[in-house]
Amino acid sequence: MTRCIFCEIIAGKLPARKVYEDELSVAFWDARPASPIHILIVPKLHVPTLNDIPDHDPLLSHLGCVARKIAMELGVADSGYRLFINVNRGGGQVVFHLHAHLVAGNDVGTFFIHAAIAGSVLWRKLIGLFRGKTRSPHRCLETEAVSGLRATTGPAGLLEKFRATLTS
Ligand code: AMP
Ligand code: ZN
Repeated sequence: MTRCIFCEIIAGKLPARKVYEDELSVAFWDARPASPIHILIVPKLHVPTLNDIPDHDPLLSHLGCVARKIAMELGVADSGYRLFINVNRGGGQVVFHLHAHLVAGNDVGTFFIHAAIAGSVLWRKLIGLFRGKTRSPHRCLETEAVSGLRATTGPAGLLEKFRATLTS
């Protein structure tokens, strides 16, 4: 058998963020998550693809039960999640050790929460930019005027000038 990264994770030779393990399966976070929650549920036995599982084998239903359990623990069982298996190259399979993807956190509600946060950060930045552009030249002119007066009249003259401005 050629090198199998999931067999190495199961044997503890490669690190993984495990979330579940029993005698038949192990589950860990996907190294390149496509969603806020992306867990791989993997049988401990090296089975290359779904096509290699005999009819009526209890392994598939076991993986389904594990997925359900993890979804409940992560608090997405009710809000919803996707559970899918890529089969062979045409189905997008890259790692040829059977695994199910549990994906969640991309629902419309979560999308709107993320969009609202991003929008408010962007809005604050825009406001900051706008204020920076409108205020700083004003502040700059003020400082130049004050420093010019201070240079010609000294601090006492400057105070006098301000008093005159207040009373006029
Ligand atoms: P598939 O395309 O169905 O074969 O999915 C393989 C998945 O395994 C991809 O989502 C990869 O990001 C993930 N993956 C590859 N190597 C690792 C690893 N060492 N630890 C965790 N996930 C991995
Ligand atoms: Zn394997």
